[in-house]
Amino acid sequence: MPLADTQSILIFGSGMNSKLVACDEGHPIGSLHLNCDTNTVSPVGEFGLTVSFHGVRGSTACHDPQTHRYGGNTSCVSIKPASDTPIIFDLGTGLRYINSSQSETETELRPEPFVGTCLLTHLHWDHIQGLPFFRSLLCDETVLDIYAPRQDEGRSLREIFLKKICPPIFPISLNEFKATINFHEIGDDDFVIGNTKVMSRFVPHTGPTLGFRITASNSTVTYLPDHQQPVTGFALTTGARQICQGTDLLIHDSQYTPAEFEHKSDWGHSTLEFAMWVAETTSAKRLALFHHDPSRTDDALDVIAQRLAGVAKNRGFEVFAAAEGMAVEVCGVV
Ligand SMILES: [Zn+2]
Ligand SMILES: [Zn+2]
Repeated sequence: MPLADTQSILIFGSGMNSKLVACDEGHPIGSLHLNCDTNTVSPVGEFGLTVSFHGVRGSTACHDPQTHRYGGNTSCVSIKPASDTPIIFDLGTGLRYINSSQSETETELRPEPFVGTCLLTHLHWDHIQGLPFFRSLLCDETVLDIYAPRQDEGRSLREIFLKKICPPIFPISLNEFKATINFHEIGDDDFVIGNTKVMSRFVPHTGPTLGFRITASNSTVTYLPDHQQPVTGFALTTGARQICQGTDLLIHDSQYTPAEFEHKSDWGHSTLEFAMWVAETTSAKRLALFHHDPSRTDDALDVIAQRLAGVAKNRGFEVFAAAEGMAVEVCGVV
């Protein structure tokens, strides 16, 4: 849909530099970048980082008239640094929609090769289920480097994936795809991918789980989709604080309301209120509510986002609820 047919639904403040746009039905479909100095509009991707949300749901994919605006696919976010190959956060079912330049039919008939990196937080189903349905794996030229947490008891990542993606669970083995898939086992590490700096830190969840912070083009994005909130009181581990501190965009677990958390306090996730506290206490500039509970309706998310916007403004940052198809331009202050 051409941008002329869109309407603005969110305009961030002058320090935040982004303007999201939506189709006539209100479904966010893209973004424009507002230049901080001149207040003129530049095309997406001209500078900074473009963050695209392909799946924002936690736990399981869902499809329902009441969830279609924010979307039902599970965790998958891509980042396109101005001068590097793409980086994907997680391989949930949203991965199917990552090649936005192609129609669904074209993707099925003529898959495009993909060369890039996945920073995988952990191996729960909702974060890996898109991998065998990623059509680019059918191309010889595809090279996918997956960085994921080192597992307990010395089990290799490749061994675990081969046991998950194989007959009779899936029609073919992961080894039979034409693409080259390289696995890199990491923990609390600092490394670079091209010109992009990456910090990975173990965070509380269930099983070995990482959070990531990437920095490129003077901009920083933190991805923390599955994060166990302390059962009593609010606190952060040293690693979680390191990856969140002063970030330009914090994408954070916000699966539960306080009432839901009372019943699921050891299921590995955060409340909306804890996500807000993490953003405030680490001086994050913008918070994306993410990993929405499958039961959370579009209308409920609208109400939550509207209610928290005022609270966040008083605390010095901005907040929005991430939606499938949304793209956000992140431009850090130099
Ligand atoms: Zn999850
Ligand atoms: Zn998980």
